[in-house]
Amino acid sequence: MSKERVQELRGQIDTINMQLLELLSQRARVVSEIGKIHTQLGVEHYDPQREAEMLTTLEMANQGPFPNETIKALFREIFRASMALEEQQAKAKIKVQRTSPDQKTIITMPDGTELGNSHFQIIAGPCAVESFEQMDSTAAELAKRGVKFLRGMAYKPRTSPYEFQGMGEPGLQIARQVADKYGMYIVSEIMDASQIPMMSDYVDIFWIGARNMQNSFLLRAIGKQSKPVILKRGLAATLEEFMYAAEYIVSGGNPNVILIERGIRTYEKSTRNMLDIGGAMVLKLESHLPVVIDISHSAGRRDIAIPMARVAKASGADGMMVEVHPNPPVAMSDAKQQLYFEQFHAVMDALEAMDADKALA
Ligand code: PEP
Ligand code: MN
Repeated sequence: MSKERVQELRGQIDTINMQLLELLSQRARVVSEIGKIHTQLGVEHYDPQREAEMLTTLEMANQGPFPNETIKALFREIFRASMALEEQQAKAKIKVQRTSPDQKTIITMPDGTELGNSHFQIIAGPCAVESFEQMDSTAAELAKRGVKFLRGMAYKPRTSPYEFQGMGEPGLQIARQVADKYGMYIVSEIMDASQIPMMSDYVDIFWIGARNMQNSFLLRAIGKQSKPVILKRGLAATLEEFMYAAEYIVSGGNPNVILIERGIRTYEKSTRNMLDIGGAMVLKLESHLPVVIDISHSAGRRDIAIPMARVAKASGADGMMVEVHPNPPVAMSDAKQQLYFEQFHAVMDALEAMDADKALA
């Protein structure tokens, strides 16, 4: 008899569960409707006052058997889930936002070289093109380690207007010539949308530097051409601002964007900028775009290049960017951080040793 009663009561519980599920789903649909309006209006999704009011009303209406604390805890959980739904919905509107764990953008170059597909790619070269000999000797060293992406920077956004500003178009000609000699791709910084047609003749990947990350005109213009774009995080940009900057390019029609974490400004002076490795990982999680770690502009010094490179690789980033120069102390820019050739090879040895360790594990 009591067994049958339990069966019957369990039947009631099953029905109530279904009703609760239907009510929760119905509630979620209403929440999602509110969320859409909030997004349109550009107002905050979280309203603590409204949440407090709802809890008070529930408390007053509660007649047991659950105590008020339990009711409040249960509803807080429902509020949290609703909030997450609203936020997820708002983010899903952004094209650069990852919508499923396996979604990834892979940049495929004409020879099949891929960036963003598990192989840790190296982007390397001097801070700036200074001469044919300088580019040629550097590329020769990089080629020995299979580097495919060569920095061919001809426009340098310097802090002081009196410092070397880059060689301009003749620098691009040198970079192109050297890249072709070694079967590499040129990445090069663009400063202004007016340079797109001229630079398109020389570069394989456009590069937008930290100082231009929020230049929405440039971002829009670069989104309308078809070459891949490397976008660096601004000097003091939040990840949200960084992702919105990438969104300008992607929403303009160019899906091939690579994000570079290059360190952000803090009060610490021992490194030039503080590498936000956690932030880079959040980017990997939140966005489907490849994420590359710049170990040169973040550190601003060459003596910690090996551990920085190890961190970059171990983090699961898609690649690393490093500056290499035949004679760093006399470099026209960033003399303190560019690596000597021997140091570059030591970095590559350290990275290869990580692969060997993994193979043994
Ligand atoms: C660069 O990588 O060439 C450069 C100028 O760095 P950033 O834009 O990050 O300062
Ligand atoms: Mn530099």
